[in-house]
Parts: sequence; C-alpha cells; structure tokens
Amino acid sequence: MHLHKRIMITGGCGFLGSHLCDRLVAAGHEVLCVDNCFTGTKRNIRHLLDHANFEFIRHDITFPLYLEVDEIYNMACPASPIHYQLDPVQTTKTSVHGAINMLGLAKRIKAKILQASTSEVYGDPEVHPQQESYWGRVNPIGPRSCYDEGKRCAETLFFDYHRQHRLRIKVARIFNTYGPRMHPNDGRVVSNFIVQALKGNAITIYGDGSQTRSFCYVDDLVQGLIRLMETPDAVTGPINLGNPVEFTILELARKVIDLTGAKSQLIHKPLPMDDPRQRNPDITLARETLQWQPAIALEEGLKQTIGYFDRLLAEMSE
Ligand code: NAD
Ligand code: UDP
Repeated sequence: MHLHKRIMITGGCGFLGSHLCDRLVAAGHEVLCVDNCFTGTKRNIRHLLDHANFEFIRHDITFPLYLEVDEIYNMACPASPIHYQLDPVQTTKTSVHGAINMLGLAKRIKAKILQASTSEVYGDPEVHPQQESYWGRVNPIGPRSCYDEGKRCAETLFFDYHRQHRLRIKVARIFNTYGPRMHPNDGRVVSNFIVQALKGNAITIYGDGSQTRSFCYVDDLVQGLIRLMETPDAVTGPINLGNPVEFTILELARKVIDLTGAKSQLIHKPLPMDDPRQRNPDITLARETLQWQPAIALEEGLKQTIGYFDRLLAEMSE
C-alpha cells in the first residue's frame, strides 16, 4: 500500500537534499524544503517550485520552526571544508542548535527524524574499513572540528532524545558522495577535479595524493537514506552509507582526466591540516538491515557528473 506522507527536508536546496526532494515528490509525498540558501541554491529545486506537492521555506534551522509533518530529514549543514570553515561558529550552531530545534519539533509533533551524520565522526581513523562501533579519532580544536564535533554532538542529542523522550530516530553516517548539483566552487575533490579538467586547468592534488576516499554516487546514497527512514522503529543506526570501493586521490585524478579527455597537468599543493589519510565504509550493517548497497560504479557516476558540469559551465559562460 502506498502511504502519502508530509515530509520536511532541511537543507533541501543543497546537493543531497535536492535529490531527496526529487525522489520523495516523485513517490507522491508532500515535501517541505527548508533552507537558508547558505550553500544551497534555489536553482537546485526550481523545477519543483510549481509542483503541487512541493513547498520551499527560507529558514535558518538555528531558529525554531513550527510545522506539522510526519517525517523530517535533517540535512542542513554546509558539507565542504571550504564552506563549513568560512563561518565555523555558525557551522557548529547549525549542527547543534539546529538539531535541538528539529528534535524539539519532532518531539512535539511526534514525527520520525533522520540525521545526516558523517564519516567525519570517525576523524582520521586508525581502523580500516570503519565500522559503526568505532568511536573515532577526532581533533576537538582544529579547523575541521566545527564540523566533526558539531556532527558528533548532534548524534549525542539524537540518542538522548531517543532514550529520554522515546523519539523515533535514524542516524546515517554518510561517506563521501558526489554527483550532479554539487556546488562547482565548493572545493570538494570530485567537483574540483571535474571543473579543473573541463576548463583545461591544472588538477590540484593536495599532498602526494596517496590518501584514499570511497566515493558514492548520489542516487545510491539517496536510496539508502529513504530505506533507512522506512525501517522499523527499533532501527536507529548509526549506520554507514557509502560506497566501499576505495581509491587514492591520484587514481581519481587520472580517471577524471581519462573520462574528460583533458590535457590538464597534475600539480601538488599542501595537504590541509587534519586531512584523513584513509577512509572506507564497512557497510555490512546497511547490507543486512536495509538490503542496500551501491549499484553505480565510479566511472559511471563520474560520466553523469561530468555531463552535468559540462552543461553548467556552458550555461554560466552564456
Ligand atoms: P550542501 O552544502 O550542498 O547542502 C547543505 C544545505 O544546507 C544547503 O542547501 C545549505 O544552504 C543548507 N543550510 C546550511 N546551514 C543551514 C541552516 N542553518 N539552516 C537551513 N539550511 C542550512 O551539502 P550536501 O553535500 O548536500 O550535504 C547535506 C548533508 O549531508 C549535510 O548535513 C552534510 O553534513 C551531510 N553529509 C554530506 C556528505 C557528502 O559527501 N555530500 C558526506 C557526509 C555527510
Ligand atoms: N583534495 C585534493 N584536491 C582538491 C580537493 C581535495 O587533493 O582540489 C583532497 C583532500 O585533501 C582530501 C580528499 O581530496 O584528501 C577529499 O577531499 P574533500 O574535501 O572532497 O572531502 P573530505 O576531505 O571531507 O573527505
């Protein structure tokens, strides 16, 4: 039976949030997109603005909000290091005050609430691949801490609301995800490399490029989030969502050069402070609990993403 739900997505104008809006509107739900447009843009949701089941509300979640919905996906928070370090105090506020506001709302209206947490809660990890039981190795006072510790505190709040108020919670630990609608200047590695290659500029490798990441295509990730939201109440997570195929940053650069046919040189820049050396999700729990695993290989996802940025750059130069 298909159930029509009212669903709120904070950060709905962002990269992941806008894809989530698309999927949930297409599934026949009523979607309320809440965003202050800090890193997201209305362009990401403009095709939905005339849809009868879609509404956009400009709002900063560090302030309280009163709405009636059945489910909340709390996606609001700048995700790229460049953006979350621009105003680190606001980043922590978004994660912590934002979580308190959204949890308070969920408690009052008895909504189910999902938190977009992150692999950054593991910090620069000593165990590989990372399992949910690992507590992490996080610097509390470095430039990444506003994001990492904010997200860790948000997880604490989710579990305390669950224990103290019996709130129905779901915590997803999202690993590096890429795809169309990433911000072209947000500094994340996939968008940086593709934009650099398409413009024929040099590709910037931070450090020697031997650090690793595991890249998940956005469609796979969004499906994982929806599966998690639909699990029975006893399933709270935290649960890793990501693609377990690991690449070095140099391998990624070479793939982008191959697929774009660019003549770009590789140049090396200093490795940012506290940059994790290795990251790879253990997704055994997601496989077993959600019957979910990524289906889209890096090459296929990169082709889609390159196509998107190619069109975007052409539009921007018109
Ligand atoms: P994004 O920056 O594209 O989207 C975040 C959205 O939140 C933007 O639209 C922004 O305007 C909005 N926002 C920021 N602060 C807000 C506030 N105070 N009130 C209301 N809206 C606010 O980032 P994304 O990649 O789509 O990430 C979405 C979520 O997923 C974030 O919470 C992020 O931490 C998490 N996440 C993403 C990744 C990834 O690889 N993309 C990995 C781990 C976790
Ligand atoms: N990186 C890089 N060149 C760039 C941007 C990023 O070599 O132009 C590296 C960065 O140092 C990190 C990896 O790519 O090791 C992933 O960076 P990103 O900012 O995308 O995500 P995160 O570090 O948060 O996983």
